[in-house]
Amino acid sequence: MPAGSAFTVAIDGPAAAGKGTVSKEVARHFGFAHLDTGLLYRAVGRRVLDGEDALAAAQALRPEDLHRDGLRSPEVASAASEVAVRGDVRRALVAFQQGFARQEGGAVLDGRDIGTVICPGAEAKLYVTASDEVRARRRFIELQATGHDVTFDGVLADLKARDARDSGRTDAPLAMAPDAVLIDTSEMSIDEAVAASIAAVEARMTGER
Ligand code: C5P
Repeated sequence: MPAGSAFTVAIDGPAAAGKGTVSKEVARHFGFAHLDTGLLYRAVGRRVLDGEDALAAAQALRPEDLHRDGLRSPEVASAASEVAVRGDVRRALVAFQQGFARQEGGAVLDGRDIGTVICPGAEAKLYVTASDEVRARRRFIELQATGHDVTFDGVLADLKARDARDSGRTDAPLAMAPDAVLIDTSEMSIDEAVAASIAAVEARMTGER
């Protein structure tokens, strides 16, 4: 990539598909900055749980809010997907994401609407997904390991409810951009998913499809 130029990688997909790890590793491989945009909605959700108004929280969001403890909890995930249906909240977070995407040296953004709404002109787009059961299994193991008191059925039900809310909302629903590369990680190890993603981004960089 020529010095001083921007290159945006947009990575979308449902919860627990492996998007987070893939995004981090793609960013590391290419030396790009990385933004997990789910954290923006989680930080707003956290402030709403603390009693603030959602729009006021989105407008006043500070970088430190993205480092608060507990943003990964199921309660905050749920609050995030509830504030994320609001068009005014989403609009308050657009400029920050677009500025991040166009920074010099390249950027990876992962979320639900990056390739469709936030960065429709992204140079590379991936849609990372996996079956409901595989995603619920991964999230269950992760939550158990971090001391959360959860059951597999509960995690599966939460995941499905969140998917339905994310895909069914009118404003920027979760969707695969027509020009995104599909990475289905159901039967892949994390290393395989990372390798497939890096190869797909490289193909876009060198002009292959
Ligand atoms: O990706 P993560 O699970 O951290 O996202 C939490 C919630 O934030 C999602 O369920 C979704 O409702 C919302 N979100 C969104 N758009 C994004 C990223 C996350 O609506 N770009």
